[in-house]
Amino acid sequence: MVIEIKKVSFGYSTEKVLHDVDCVFEGGGFYAVIGPNGSGKSTMIRLLNRLLIPDTGTVQVNGRSVQDYPRRFLAQHIGYVPQSGGSSANATVFDTILLGRKPHIKWAPGKSDFKKTVNIIRDFSLEHLTLRLTGELSGGELQRVHIARALVQEPDVLILDEPTSSLDLSHQIEVMKMLKEVSTKGITVIVAIHDLNLALRYADQFLLLRDGSIIAMGDERVISEQNLRALYDVEVQKVDVDGQSYILPLLG
Ligand code: ADP
Repeated sequence: MVIEIKKVSFGYSTEKVLHDVDCVFEGGGFYAVIGPNGSGKSTMIRLLNRLLIPDTGTVQVNGRSVQDYPRRFLAQHIGYVPQSGGSSANATVFDTILLGRKPHIKWAPGKSDFKKTVNIIRDFSLEHLTLRLTGELSGGELQRVHIARALVQEPDVLILDEPTSSLDLSHQIEVMKMLKEVSTKGITVIVAIHDLNLALRYADQFLLLRDGSIIAMGDERVISEQNLRALYDVEVQKVDVDGQSYILPLLG
Protein backbone atom coordinates (compact mmCIF):
# COMPACT_ATOMS: atom_id res chain seq x y z
CA MET A 1 0.00 0.00 0.00
CA VAL A 2 1.42 3.37 -1.04
CA ILE A 3 0.56 6.58 0.81
CA GLU A 4 1.33 9.85 -0.88
CA ILE A 5 1.17 13.36 0.49
CA LYS A 6 0.71 15.78 -2.39
CA LYS A 7 1.28 19.49 -1.89
CA VAL A 8 -0.42 19.41 1.49
CA SER A 9 -0.79 22.53 3.59
CA PHE A 10 -2.62 22.55 6.89
CA GLY A 11 -3.28 24.89 9.81
CA TYR A 12 -5.38 24.47 12.95
CA SER A 13 -6.25 28.17 12.63
CA THR A 14 -5.23 30.72 10.03
CA GLU A 15 -1.57 30.03 10.82
CA LYS A 16 -0.15 27.20 8.70
CA VAL A 17 1.51 24.28 10.51
CA LEU A 18 2.43 22.34 7.34
CA HIS A 19 3.55 24.05 4.15
CA ASP A 20 3.29 22.38 0.75
CA VAL A 21 4.45 18.98 2.00
CA ASP A 22 5.18 16.38 -0.68
CA CYS A 23 6.28 12.83 0.08
CA VAL A 24 5.67 9.19 -0.70
CA PHE A 25 5.61 6.25 1.71
CA GLU A 26 6.19 3.06 -0.28
CA GLY A 27 4.87 -0.35 0.76
CA GLY A 28 7.19 -2.19 3.16
CA GLY A 29 9.36 0.81 4.02
CA PHE A 30 10.27 1.72 7.59
CA TYR A 31 10.07 5.51 7.77
CA ALA A 32 11.25 7.69 10.65
CA VAL A 33 9.76 11.19 10.83
CA ILE A 34 12.23 13.39 12.67
CA GLY A 35 12.11 17.01 13.77
CA PRO A 36 12.03 19.34 16.76
CA ASN A 37 8.99 19.74 19.00
CA GLY A 38 6.26 21.63 17.19
CA SER A 39 7.70 20.99 13.71
CA GLY A 40 4.49 19.26 12.56
CA LYS A 41 5.23 15.52 12.95
CA SER A 42 2.00 14.62 14.78
CA THR A 43 -0.03 16.83 12.47
CA MET A 44 1.41 15.10 9.41
CA ILE A 45 0.70 11.70 10.92
CA ARG A 46 -2.92 12.65 11.69
CA LEU A 47 -3.39 13.78 8.10
CA LEU A 48 -2.25 10.36 6.86
CA ASN A 49 -5.18 8.52 8.39
CA ARG A 50 -7.78 11.24 7.84
CA LEU A 51 -7.98 12.40 11.44
CA LEU A 52 -7.26 15.79 9.91
CA ILE A 53 -8.16 17.00 6.42
CA PRO A 54 -5.66 19.13 4.43
CA ASP A 55 -6.54 22.76 3.70
CA THR A 56 -4.95 22.34 0.28
CA GLY A 57 -3.44 19.33 -1.48
CA THR A 58 -4.38 15.68 -0.99
CA VAL A 59 -3.36 12.55 0.88
CA GLN A 60 -3.69 9.54 -1.38
CA VAL A 61 -3.78 5.83 -0.65
CA ASN A 62 -2.92 3.72 -3.70
CA GLY A 63 -3.54 6.72 -5.93
CA ARG A 64 -6.96 7.62 -4.49
CA SER A 65 -7.75 10.38 -1.99
CA VAL A 66 -8.19 9.07 1.58
CA GLN A 67 -11.46 10.99 1.68
CA ASP A 68 -12.87 8.69 -1.04
CA TYR A 69 -12.39 5.53 1.05
CA PRO A 70 -15.04 4.22 3.47
CA ARG A 71 -13.98 4.60 7.12
CA ARG A 72 -14.05 0.81 7.59
CA PHE A 73 -11.55 0.30 4.78
CA LEU A 74 -9.11 2.75 6.35
CA ALA A 75 -9.64 1.16 9.78
CA GLN A 76 -8.82 -2.26 8.33
CA HIS A 77 -5.73 -1.14 6.46
CA ILE A 78 -4.16 1.67 8.48
CA GLY A 79 -3.15 1.15 12.11
CA TYR A 80 -2.50 4.20 14.27
CA VAL A 81 -0.90 4.50 17.70
CA PRO A 82 -1.27 8.04 18.98
CA GLN A 83 1.02 9.50 21.65
CA SER A 84 -1.59 8.97 24.34
CA GLY A 85 -3.12 5.64 23.31
CA GLY A 86 -6.81 6.56 23.58
CA SER A 87 -8.08 3.36 25.22
CA SER A 88 -10.59 3.06 28.04
CA ALA A 89 -8.97 2.88 31.47
CA ASN A 90 -11.67 0.42 32.56
CA ALA A 91 -10.96 -2.32 30.04
CA THR A 92 -8.61 -5.23 30.63
CA VAL A 93 -5.39 -5.53 28.68
CA PHE A 94 -6.84 -8.58 26.88
CA ASP A 95 -10.02 -6.77 25.80
CA THR A 96 -8.09 -3.67 24.79
CA ILE A 97 -5.83 -5.66 22.48
CA LEU A 98 -8.76 -7.75 21.16
CA LEU A 99 -10.44 -4.46 20.20
CA GLY A 100 -7.70 -4.05 17.60
CA ARG A 101 -9.57 -6.76 15.66
CA LYS A 102 -12.73 -4.62 15.59
CA PRO A 103 -12.45 -3.44 11.97
CA HIS A 104 -12.41 -7.12 10.89
CA ILE A 105 -15.24 -8.35 13.14
CA LYS A 106 -18.83 -8.50 11.84
CA TRP A 107 -20.76 -8.88 15.12
CA ALA A 108 -18.69 -10.96 17.54
CA PRO A 109 -15.02 -11.93 17.68
CA GLY A 110 -14.29 -15.38 16.29
CA LYS A 111 -11.75 -18.06 17.14
CA SER A 112 -9.07 -16.53 14.93
CA ASP A 113 -9.51 -13.08 16.55
CA PHE A 114 -8.88 -14.62 19.99
CA LYS A 115 -5.95 -16.64 18.67
CA LYS A 116 -4.30 -13.59 17.11
CA THR A 117 -4.82 -11.68 20.36
CA VAL A 118 -3.21 -14.44 22.41
CA ASN A 119 -0.27 -14.65 20.00
CA ILE A 120 0.45 -10.93 20.06
CA ILE A 121 0.19 -10.92 23.88
CA ARG A 122 2.89 -13.61 23.88
CA ASP A 123 5.05 -11.72 21.36
CA PHE A 124 4.96 -8.65 23.61
CA SER A 125 5.48 -10.69 26.83
CA LEU A 126 2.28 -9.23 28.29
CA GLU A 127 0.83 -12.52 29.61
CA HIS A 128 1.16 -11.47 33.25
CA LEU A 129 -0.92 -8.35 32.59
CA THR A 130 -3.84 -9.73 30.55
CA LEU A 131 -6.50 -9.28 33.25
CA ARG A 132 -5.24 -5.97 34.60
CA LEU A 133 -7.18 -2.80 33.77
CA THR A 134 -5.28 -0.52 31.41
CA GLY A 135 -5.79 2.33 33.89
CA GLU A 136 -3.57 0.40 36.32
CA LEU A 137 -0.57 0.05 33.99
CA SER A 138 2.67 1.99 33.91
CA GLY A 139 3.21 4.35 30.97
CA GLY A 140 5.58 1.89 29.31
CA GLU A 141 3.28 -1.11 29.78
CA LEU A 142 0.37 0.87 28.36
CA GLN A 143 2.44 1.95 25.36
CA ARG A 144 3.25 -1.70 24.57
CA VAL A 145 -0.45 -2.63 24.90
CA HIS A 146 -1.35 0.07 22.40
CA ILE A 147 1.29 -1.09 19.93
CA ALA A 148 0.09 -4.70 20.34
CA ARG A 149 -3.50 -3.54 19.69
CA ALA A 150 -2.40 -1.83 16.45
CA LEU A 151 -0.44 -4.89 15.31
CA VAL A 152 -3.26 -7.37 15.97
CA GLN A 153 -5.33 -5.29 13.57
CA GLU A 154 -2.95 -6.57 10.84
CA PRO A 155 -2.84 -3.28 8.94
CA ASP A 156 -0.96 -2.65 5.69
CA VAL A 157 0.33 0.62 7.09
CA LEU A 158 1.22 1.17 10.72
CA ILE A 159 1.63 4.75 11.92
CA LEU A 160 3.03 5.42 15.40
CA ASP A 161 3.54 8.73 17.15
CA GLU A 162 6.63 8.44 19.39
CA PRO A 163 6.13 4.73 20.14
CA THR A 164 9.20 4.47 22.35
CA SER A 165 8.78 7.64 24.42
CA SER A 166 7.75 5.94 27.71
CA LEU A 167 9.80 2.77 27.33
CA ASP A 168 12.97 1.69 29.07
CA LEU A 169 15.97 0.93 26.88
CA SER A 170 15.34 -2.79 26.48
CA HIS A 171 11.67 -2.26 25.55
CA GLN A 172 12.62 0.55 23.14
CA ILE A 173 14.85 -1.92 21.32
CA GLU A 174 12.24 -4.70 21.53
CA VAL A 175 9.55 -2.48 19.99
CA MET A 176 11.80 -1.14 17.24
CA LYS A 177 12.96 -4.68 16.38
CA MET A 178 9.36 -5.80 16.19
CA LEU A 179 8.45 -2.87 13.92
CA LYS A 180 11.43 -3.70 11.71
CA GLU A 181 10.29 -7.31 11.46
CA VAL A 182 6.78 -6.17 10.57
CA SER A 183 8.15 -3.91 7.83
CA THR A 184 10.15 -6.79 6.32
CA LYS A 185 6.80 -8.60 5.91
CA GLY A 186 5.65 -5.78 3.60
CA ILE A 187 3.82 -3.56 6.09
CA THR A 188 4.70 0.13 5.79
CA VAL A 189 5.81 1.49 9.15
CA ILE A 190 5.85 5.23 9.80
CA VAL A 191 7.09 6.47 13.19
CA ALA A 192 7.57 9.93 14.60
CA ILE A 193 10.59 9.52 16.83
CA HIS A 194 13.07 11.67 18.74
CA ASP A 195 15.74 9.04 19.32
CA LEU A 196 18.04 9.42 16.33
CA ASN A 197 20.12 6.34 17.17
CA LEU A 198 17.12 4.02 17.38
CA ALA A 199 15.88 5.53 14.12
CA LEU A 200 19.26 5.07 12.44
CA ARG A 201 19.51 1.46 13.58
CA TYR A 202 16.04 0.29 12.60
CA ALA A 203 14.42 2.64 10.06
CA ASP A 204 15.51 2.70 6.43
CA GLN A 205 14.01 6.00 5.26
CA PHE A 206 14.13 9.33 7.07
CA LEU A 207 12.01 12.42 6.72
CA LEU A 208 13.30 15.60 8.33
CA LEU A 209 10.65 18.14 9.22
CA ARG A 210 11.39 21.71 10.28
CA ASP A 211 8.73 24.40 10.81
CA GLY A 212 6.21 22.40 8.81
CA SER A 213 8.42 21.81 5.77
CA ILE A 214 10.44 18.79 4.72
CA ILE A 215 14.09 19.77 4.59
CA ALA A 216 15.35 16.33 3.55
CA MET A 217 14.07 12.82 2.85
CA GLY A 218 15.96 9.68 1.95
CA ASP A 219 18.18 6.93 3.32
CA GLU A 220 20.49 7.21 6.30
CA ARG A 221 22.71 9.70 4.50
CA VAL A 222 20.13 12.44 5.21
CA ILE A 223 20.91 12.00 8.92
CA SER A 224 24.04 14.07 8.42
CA GLU A 225 25.82 16.39 10.82
CA GLN A 226 24.89 19.30 8.58
CA ASN A 227 21.16 18.44 8.37
CA LEU A 228 20.92 17.84 12.12
CA ARG A 229 22.54 21.19 12.79
CA ALA A 230 19.96 22.80 10.51
CA LEU A 231 17.17 20.88 12.23
CA TYR A 232 18.04 21.32 15.91
CA ASP A 233 20.68 24.05 15.94
CA VAL A 234 22.92 21.61 17.83
CA GLU A 235 26.37 20.34 16.93
CA VAL A 236 26.54 16.57 16.54
CA GLN A 237 29.05 14.05 15.32
CA LYS A 238 28.08 11.01 13.28
CA VAL A 239 30.32 8.15 14.31
CA ASP A 240 30.71 4.58 13.14
CA VAL A 241 30.86 1.70 15.62
CA ASP A 242 31.22 -1.78 14.09
CA GLY A 243 29.57 -0.64 10.86
CA GLN A 244 26.60 1.03 12.58
CA SER A 245 26.21 4.84 12.55
CA TYR A 246 25.47 6.70 15.77
CA ILE A 247 24.73 10.35 16.47
CA LEU A 248 26.71 11.87 19.27
CA PRO A 249 25.58 15.32 20.46
CA LEU A 250 28.54 17.59 21.24
CA LEU A 251 27.47 19.15 24.50
CA GLY A 252 30.11 21.89 24.42
P1 ADP B 1 5.30 17.83 16.65
O1 ADP B 1 4.55 16.55 16.60
O2 ADP B 1 6.43 17.91 15.66
O3 ADP B 1 5.76 18.18 18.04
P2 ADP B 1 2.72 19.05 16.16
O4 ADP B 1 2.25 18.54 14.85
O5 ADP B 1 2.16 18.45 17.40
O6 ADP B 1 4.32 19.00 16.19
O7 ADP B 1 2.47 20.60 16.25
C1 ADP B 1 2.78 21.50 15.18
C2 ADP B 1 2.23 22.87 15.56
O8 ADP B 1 0.80 22.81 15.59
C3 ADP B 1 2.66 23.37 16.92
O9 ADP B 1 2.87 24.77 16.83
C4 ADP B 1 1.48 23.07 17.80
O10 ADP B 1 1.40 23.99 18.88
C5 ADP B 1 0.30 23.23 16.86
N1 ADP B 1 -0.82 22.34 17.23
C6 ADP B 1 -0.76 20.99 17.39
N2 ADP B 1 -1.98 20.49 17.68
C7 ADP B 1 -2.83 21.54 17.72
C8 ADP B 1 -4.24 21.69 17.97
N3 ADP B 1 -5.00 20.62 18.22
N4 ADP B 1 -4.76 22.93 17.92
C9 ADP B 1 -4.00 24.01 17.64
N5 ADP B 1 -2.67 23.95 17.38
C10 ADP B 1 -2.08 22.74 17.42
